[in-house]
Amino acid sequence: MPKTAMTVIRGGRLVNIRAHAAPKADILVKGDTIAEIGRPGMSVPADARIIDAKGRLLHPGLINGHTHSHGNLAKGMVDRVTLELLLTAGAWMSGQRTLEDKYLSSLIGAAEMVLKGCTAAYDLAAEFPMPTMEGLSAIGQAYADVGMRATLAPMVADTTFFKAIPGLMERLPPALQKEVERFGLAPHKASLAQMKKALHGWKLAGKGIRLAVAPTIPHHCSRAFLLGCLELSKDYETGLHTHVAESKVQVIAGYKLYGSTLAAYMDSLGMVGPNFTVAHGVWLDGDDMKLLGDKGASVSHNPGSNMRLGNGIADMRGLLDAKVNVGIGTDGASCSDNQNMYENMRLASMVSKVQGPDWQRWITTEEVLEAATAGSARALGLGDKIGKIETGYKADIVFLDLDSLNWIPCNDPTNQIVHTEDGTGVHSVMIGGRMVVENRKLLTVDLTTLAAKAEKARARLEKANRPAKALSEKLAKIVGTFCPGLAREPLHIDRFAGGHHHHAQGRHLH
Ligand SMILES: [Zn+2]
Repeated sequence: MPKTAMTVIRGGRLVNIRAHAAPKADILVKGDTIAEIGRPGMSVPADARIIDAKGRLLHPGLINGHTHSHGNLAKGMVDRVTLELLLTAGAWMSGQRTLEDKYLSSLIGAAEMVLKGCTAAYDLAAEFPMPTMEGLSAIGQAYADVGMRATLAPMVADTTFFKAIPGLMERLPPALQKEVERFGLAPHKASLAQMKKALHGWKLAGKGIRLAVAPTIPHHCSRAFLLGCLELSKDYETGLHTHVAESKVQVIAGYKLYGSTLAAYMDSLGMVGPNFTVAHGVWLDGDDMKLLGDKGASVSHNPGSNMRLGNGIADMRGLLDAKVNVGIGTDGASCSDNQNMYENMRLASMVSKVQGPDWQRWITTEEVLEAATAGSARALGLGDKIGKIETGYKADIVFLDLDSLNWIPCNDPTNQIVHTEDGTGVHSVMIGGRMVVENRKLLTVDLTTLAAKAEKARARLEKANRPAKALSEKLAKIVGTFCPGLAREPLHIDRFAGGHHHHAQGRHLH
């Protein structure tokens, strides 16, 4: 049996999130796991490889609670879009992707994430009209090639956006109705069969790449489909991840279709539990939050995306008060521009503070940093393995350069990781005991080659998706008035009122 490799990280300052301190500590790594944390100069086996971390601040790898790998080839394509306009543009922005495109798009995102201090992600990857074993393997391989962890939850639906929003299809002229019929998704049995095949034959678990199940948006899935997803997640013990109450339009659609909130509807099907993650949750009401908290569920708070798409501000304080597990996510680069977890931590802090002068309800930096590490880890179902620098946890460690301008001077490591660091201070990144970034260089993937391949793919997709773009522009004229019109229907919003009653009050349609 080969001897397990030992590594000692010497001389670094290890952040203690709650103490707002970073005392010096040495870390012994055995294989991919942290074996011991001790005093500087602690004795270690003579053959241990030494990593000099003098002048470095060590923090747990950031964990992206919600992203979409297919978004990376589509970054920058749109400016003023609501969620509904983004969904309308889906066939243009993400259509015609080859297997190689799926791999490339994931590789771009994974490379960006590790270079910006992120070591694991919950990726709701998309393939049309349904996920495939080959596609998921290509996407997973991209993460494995970069060297980061990922939970891939293929985004599935059996109802198109145009049919999912009550009244929208009827609003389209017959010619356009016919055109969007072509967006038809696979019947749910076919999608479920593909997912099952992938879950059954998955080969990348040893590389830290796992699968989960993501009925993308509740009302974009038939009841039978949601129940099929639930069954798969039970049979294979995976996470369940879905966009719930991301936009006000979704909440109104939920009331019209189910007579309840989307979270309550999911719960009525038995879907809400500790493996359940809500993406965004901007429009959750007090009862929803209580439900999610009582069932041990998670919310990925994605503040950058929520602002960018005009969805609003999720109530992270309300979620924490209701004992919901909160993670932080970037969302896809097609709608939130980058994969920078530092930026989203800062935004998570800012959006809580911008709501008013009731500063005692503002989110603290330690709450944000814990959400972006341990909180997201729990959402990924890996709360006992990643998200902390502690004995027994995987050695996923970010080395920040204390000589970078973000750290001159270093007054408070917790505050500065959340508020000052922007990714430019990332010096090195270790994932599972392996150096993936060293001295600001990605060791696993050549970015020059990646850039050339990505440009080729971009140019080809731009051409191939021209008809879809033209159709999307026609549809946008209708969606862009119909959906905001729908969103003008009043909803009672109690949660920003503060006080102690807001959990008991629901949100009701007038
Ligand atoms: Zn999303």
